[in-house]
Amino acid sequence: FSLMQRNMSLLRDKAFVNGEWITSKKGKSFDVINPTDGSVIGQVPDMDVEDTKAAIDSAHSAFKPWASTTAKERSNLLRKWFNLLEENKEELARLVSIEAGKPFKESLGEVFYGNSFIEWFSEEARRINGEIAASPAKSKEMLFIRQPIGVAALITPWNFPHAMITRKAGAALAAGCTCVIKPAEDTPLTALALAQLAHDAGIPKGVLNVITASRDNAAPMGKILCESPLVRGLSFTGSTAVGKILYQQCASGIKRVSLELGGNAPFIVFKSANLDQAVVGAMASKFRNCGQTCVSANRFLIEESVFDQFVEKLKVAMKTELKQGTGESCNTGPLINVTQLQRVDNIVQDAVKKGATVHLGGGPAKELGERWYQPTLLTNIKSDMLCYREEIFGPVVACIKFKSEEEGLKIANDTPVGLAGYFFSGDIAQCWRVGKALEVGMVGINEGMISSTEAAFGGIKESGIGREGSHHGIEEYTDVKYMCFGNL
Ligand code: ADP
Repeated sequence: FSLMQRNMSLLRDKAFVNGEWITSKKGKSFDVINPTDGSVIGQVPDMDVEDTKAAIDSAHSAFKPWASTTAKERSNLLRKWFNLLEENKEELARLVSIEAGKPFKESLGEVFYGNSFIEWFSEEARRINGEIAASPAKSKEMLFIRQPIGVAALITPWNFPHAMITRKAGAALAAGCTCVIKPAEDTPLTALALAQLAHDAGIPKGVLNVITASRDNAAPMGKILCESPLVRGLSFTGSTAVGKILYQQCASGIKRVSLELGGNAPFIVFKSANLDQAVVGAMASKFRNCGQTCVSANRFLIEESVFDQFVEKLKVAMKTELKQGTGESCNTGPLINVTQLQRVDNIVQDAVKKGATVHLGGGPAKELGERWYQPTLLTNIKSDMLCYREEIFGPVVACIKFKSEEEGLKIANDTPVGLAGYFFSGDIAQCWRVGKALEVGMVGINEGMISSTEAAFGGIKESGIGREGSHHGIEEYTDVKYMCFGNL
């Protein structure tokens, strides 16, 4: 470990099960890589099915005692966890930066966002109320109570190593569920640091477990997490392809399933829009985490009469505002790994081959390292290009021209996924019409940044099932029980 890393008191090289730091039963481990330069940060256990079963057992044993704590007790523990997360926010941000490659300021932003879920769910824990229904019979009273579902398996991606965990675990713990967390193989270190702080806050052993695995073990681990009769629900954030596998695996045991999958967000600029605001929104929505967020604007649909003007303004903003590198003034990092870089480059080269115009960038930024990609701006996009259909997940803007609101909406909705959508318009009637017509779970209207702990986050169509954050986030972890009192 380098000097900087040795000074990190939250850096762990073991997994966290039943309140203990453990290795894998077979003694295997895998490397965690710093995407900025490809260096090895450290190793964590490469766990398999046996290790996973042990973690599930631990969560299962902890469930009844945890579920029987009072809402106020759970709230207090979550609040203590939140306080520790805040005290350690700089170190958490450094961990996010070294394993996910984000510029430090951006990592701090994620930690702020991630911590806020624990604060929010410490508050929501006390408001998981039931209902009393109006009974049709004089001799009966009808009550609905909400109970925790049981052990929840939480499988998370690398693009938000902190927030994707707290958004799920905060809700699960508030509801009275225990959990087994499987972080992405690229970013296990932040997850382990979160577990240490949960432990320090006094969250009982077995309530929150973190198991780590390489890509090779992710599938068998995922299968047992979905199929074990001791697990009652799965919450997954990641690709649509993996989400479909997990959904199927959960079917045999009729598990509760919450899925946050890929998006293909349209970003529409209508002719009545304030173009300067639209450019600010586009920059925020596209370049956060170097385009690697599931709500990143993916297809830029620009009304014909303002097309050239918008493209020119966006080009200027990209040139002047995006600073790639690891220095303090930099705001744009690398892609997470070489596979992702090749995928992004493949999408760009396909567009170029089929006639797209490159205004900026257009290839890897080799001088910065193996995983860096130039911010790229493309026009002359046609429907047979990969960038028209696929989620890009990189710093690439592809601008498509449309002629009418109807045509813009048709292109926007012409995709099997529907997570976020954005549009800019100065026409209030159009704002309402288009807001309702977009086939997505979340809409930014004259706004490019829509995520917050208070928001109901989630998609429709193949983008997923369920909502995270807001008071809806708790629903994924509770069952409604109807109790009928008779002979009154
Ligand atoms: P990405 O393309 O962003 O890496 P993935 O859906 O592949 O998204 O990964 C998200 C999470 O799902 C990671 O924790 C990864 O290890 C895990 N994962 C990948 N494949 C499987 C699988 N077959 N079963 C369970 N989990 C998986």
